[in-house]
Amino acid sequence: MQVSSISTKICRMHNFEYRHGELYCEQVPVSRIAKEVGTPCYVYSYTTLVRHYRAYDGAFKSIPHVIAFAMKANSNIAILRLMAKEGSGVDIVSGGELFRALKAGVLPSKIVFAGVGKSAEEIREALKADVLMFNVESSAELQALNEVAASVGTKARVALRINPDIDPKTHPYISTGLKKSKFGIAADRALEEFALASSLANIDVVGVHKHIGSQLTEVTPFVEAVKKVVKLVGALKSQGINIRYVNIGGGLGITYSDETPPLPQDLADAVSPLLKDLNITLIMEPGRVIVGNAGILVTKVLYRKDGEAKRFIIVDAAMNDLIRPSLYGAYHEIRPLSEAVLQRPKHHVDVVGPVCESGDFLAKDRSLPEVNPGDMLAVMSAGAYGFVMASNYNSRPRVPEVLIKDGEIHVIKARETYEDLIKGETIPAFLN
Ligand SMILES: *Cc1c(COP(=O)(O)O)cnc(C)c1O
Repeated sequence: MQVSSISTKICRMHNFEYRHGELYCEQVPVSRIAKEVGTPCYVYSYTTLVRHYRAYDGAFKSIPHVIAFAMKANSNIAILRLMAKEGSGVDIVSGGELFRALKAGVLPSKIVFAGVGKSAEEIREALKADVLMFNVESSAELQALNEVAASVGTKARVALRINPDIDPKTHPYISTGLKKSKFGIAADRALEEFALASSLANIDVVGVHKHIGSQLTEVTPFVEAVKKVVKLVGALKSQGINIRYVNIGGGLGITYSDETPPLPQDLADAVSPLLKDLNITLIMEPGRVIVGNAGILVTKVLYRKDGEAKRFIIVDAAMNDLIRPSLYGAYHEIRPLSEAVLQRPKHHVDVVGPVCESGDFLAKDRSLPEVNPGDMLAVMSAGAYGFVMASNYNSRPRVPEVLIKDGEIHVIKARETYEDLIKGETIPAFLN
């Protein structure tokens, strides 16, 4: 009990706190970062990132394992380098992610390649890099992989992704393990597919993969899914298919508002006993739980607009910078950088950006203390699926990313320029 409550603190903690009347990231006032790099900007805490990675890694120390950080959650090469230095691998979903991972120095022997639509070119690149394995999602992909591997003169290591048909009880857009989902191979057809896979000359079947969704706030769906996988591994072994890896995906949720998701240790306590006698290496693909609460988006209030029905706070960040509220109706806590603002009277407001869309909001019907133009706000828990989903919509340059360590501000991605916006565009001669 004692141990669990300590690790609770360790994993829920992040390094964005009020000190001396203002919000700090580690030892640096966020207002100073905003002054130095401008707003909007993403700010990440090194200490939080490392603590989260180690909490996850440590929780599973009783089983041989590889953590393959799901880099789609945050793919800045500095973040990837940091993870790699901690011993992490990555879960990639495209050739672009493979490129980033290799640039960042992630070991190919710790890269797993997922996704329902890998192209022949991407498969070839990954085979050449000698990634640990492909997580295959359909028999058509299996055939394609077999052909490309043959043409390269190699054998592709493969885990088949099974769809355990389990409801993760999360947002439908981030729920991936139900029968109606595009992901994975139906559990009841799994044996057939594995038999096909092991009959292919250039395929080496090594694992079973599953990932049922994201932002899971209960441990039960994980347990149910792992139980199905364990049963399948048993059946495969009895058919002479030697499974060496079990990949249980990612999906552990974080606290955005008042959720109390299981901790990595809770997950480990629940699933380790099911896996420990299988004689396999466990692979995990956490994304959000590592980076989500390690980052914030800093924005400045531009205007206040008292509409007839409600009050709008117009800020300089928008849906193109952080799309989760618009896309999933996601909740992100909003905190003023100045603690004194918390004492002001509260109002019901929408916090909206400058983009010309009604769906452009960062918070809706939110009770916030009165803020005025020039006030700075932090959009919390923005480290995962934040910058990576940013776009240039409305020709807005993408914002900088900053990593804080030991009191120092490291710009790990510069703010885009107007020239960046038109990179690669040309006006054909007939328009001259
Ligand atoms: C998105 C994804 C993950 C990571 O999910 P999180 O909820 O961020 O942990 C892991 N594995 C696969 C296959 C994914 O698609």
